[in-house]
Amino acid sequence: MPKKKITIIGAGICGLWQALTLVRAGHAVTLIERSKKPFEGACSFYAGAMLAPFAEEEGAEKLIRELGLRSIELWRDTYPDTQCEGSLIIAQPRDQKELHRFERMTMGHERVNESRISEMEPDLKGRYSNGLFFADEAHVHPHQSMDFLLNAAEEAGAVVHFGRDEAPGSTDLLIDCRGIAAREDLGELRGVRGERLVVRTEEINLSRPVRLLHPRFPLYVVPWGYGFYLIGATQIESDEAGPVTVRSALDLLSTAYALHPAFGEAEVVGFGAGARPAFPDNLPRIIVKGDHIHVNGLFRHGFLLAPALAELTARYIETGETHPEVFS
Ligand SMILES: Cc1cc2nc3c(=O)[nH]c(=O)nc-3n(C[C@H](O)[C@H](O)[C@H](O)COP(=O)(O)OP(=O)(O)OC[C@H]3O[C@@H](n4cnc5c(N)ncnc54)[C@H](O)[C@@H]3O)c2cc1C
Repeated sequence: MPKKKITIIGAGICGLWQALTLVRAGHAVTLIERSKKPFEGACSFYAGAMLAPFAEEEGAEKLIRELGLRSIELWRDTYPDTQCEGSLIIAQPRDQKELHRFERMTMGHERVNESRISEMEPDLKGRYSNGLFFADEAHVHPHQSMDFLLNAAEEAGAVVHFGRDEAPGSTDLLIDCRGIAAREDLGELRGVRGERLVVRTEEINLSRPVRLLHPRFPLYVVPWGYGFYLIGATQIESDEAGPVTVRSALDLLSTAYALHPAFGEAEVVGFGAGARPAFPDNLPRIIVKGDHIHVNGLFRHGFLLAPALAELTARYIETGETHPEVFS
């Protein structure tokens, strides 16, 4: 099959994986990003970047698990700093019902008791009497992994333009990965605001993402290394990606403090919010309109799904094959 001239619009996690996959498949790839500085305008910049196909099934279809498991393989094959430490779910004694519910709704976990929790996370010793461990989950650092994908795509021959939003006239295929900005063409797309903060502390050391279940404010903490932690995230039906509200900051900070009081002494080094692009069923779609292909609706699973979606797009371009639940 002759190789194609492909333009990808949008250098968020979706567009970056499309660019790398397609350029490595031998296509002539141009990646165009509207923001002048990498990742400045991307929802992806704010992600926790957990790769949690099992835990996410608590509120998602099994398609997310299936695509997510394939994505973890692709992350591991591609990005050497993929952290494969699994993830841990815990709850305060009064919220044990939440833990039981989570256990029923998900698979791929083992129940862990207090001593196992403290083996895995010594700084949580004596604080939680049981939890769920998802051994096959992973996480990445969002900014470092995006830098890596961008450099790898360029090294493989992709041409990248920042500060541009016009596709070149002559292209065989346009892959549209504009996230929420594509709503002007995809009427059903909506934004789901996610707020998060980043703190730094030497007082506590966690090796893997930890989720603290709570009926009102479920929260996760993702270790970024060197004492940095992402604390996230709210989920609000809104397109607004603006500054974090006082109420959300209070919720996030007080739940982090409840997870471990050492977070009370942490320095807050960043606040921010992104608008997750989502379709009404919160499932991703690859929408083919002739030579214009939208890849969108990654919702709260952009890092989890982007590699598998890029593989599906590449296969479609090569063979015409379509995944029945993803293509429309
Ligand atoms: C707080 C928070 C936590 C999250 N945690 C996780 C997590 O732990 N795991 C996970 O898998 N997912 C997580 N997500 C979800 C994930 O971030 C999104 O699914 C993902 O960012 C969507 O990526 P995208 O590439 O589709 O969109 P974006 O990242 O928004 O990228 C779209 C890009 O297109 C560019 N663009 C727009 N219009 C144009 C144009 N006309 N021309 C050129 N460029 C244009 C934008 O500037 C932007 O850079 C989280 C999200 C949030 C907000």
